[in-house]
Amino acid sequence: MEIIANESKVRNINKKGPMSATRFKRILLKVGGESLIGDRSYGIDPVSALNVAEQIKEVYIKHVQIAIVIGGGNIFRGIAGSQNGIERATADYMGMLATVMNALALQDALEKTGVPCRVQSALQMPAVAESFIRRKAIRHMEKGRVVILAAGTGVPYVTTDTGAALHALELKCDVLMKATKVDGIYENDPEKNPSARRYSKMNFTEVIMRDGIDIMDTAALAMAKDNDMPIMVFELFKKHNLVKAVDGEDIGTFVSNDVKTEFSK
Ligand code: UDP
Repeated sequence: MEIIANESKVRNINKKGPMSATRFKRILLKVGGESLIGDRSYGIDPVSALNVAEQIKEVYIKHVQIAIVIGGGNIFRGIAGSQNGIERATADYMGMLATVMNALALQDALEKTGVPCRVQSALQMPAVAESFIRRKAIRHMEKGRVVILAAGTGVPYVTTDTGAALHALELKCDVLMKATKVDGIYENDPEKNPSARRYSKMNFTEVIMRDGIDIMDTAALAMAKDNDMPIMVFELFKKHNLVKAVDGEDIGTFVSNDVKTEFSK
């Protein structure tokens, strides 16, 4: 009951509130599992999940359509499992299951903030999530629901970054918003060199060619580049950063085939 009451409150905000002109109208947000870990060394911290949900709500009430791909690194990563002796494909499926747990935790947090939300999974799990159906995912967004996409691509040997690139393309998102721990791409490591400059824009070719830029898996980057899906790299841990990035403020780094590489002013 409470969830439904909250949902209708937010829907009313959505109906009555001014339609603000955001830079992007439909986004694919890639959040790593670590965004849910908080101060723990493992698992899900409900307060951190709520913080992520609050950031998403700030964008949702601006009528931005939102699909989310959630990782599983706070619980299980296939590579780590295979290093400990589990067959790689099996370990990867376990990693995908971890993303389903995170998706349910994020759904719970979003509903607590009043944002209507559906989980779709690339691995069939009808008792807890809808199966991923592209047209249905689009319909959910059009109807004002956030869609959380669990289990990445549904196949092993890749990560949720690849799932994010793939889903951003098939759901015709304007941008893939990649949340990272650093607030964008720097000319060199800002922790070692505090005067390192941040790029506000970067051409895909440069991101792929330059050594030491580790924002996403190479497979995901190549897929985004080849299919003209821009990527906004930004930090989610700072409050209001997601809405600022969607509004077009100069935070993070915007990576695209159509921009010239520039430093932030
Ligand atoms: N995974 C997979 N196929 C996919 C997506 C994920 O096999 O399409 C597995 C893989 O083992 C990965 C784990 O699920 O390590 C958790 O995802 P990821 O490492 O991308 O999580 P994140 O680092 O974003 O938290």
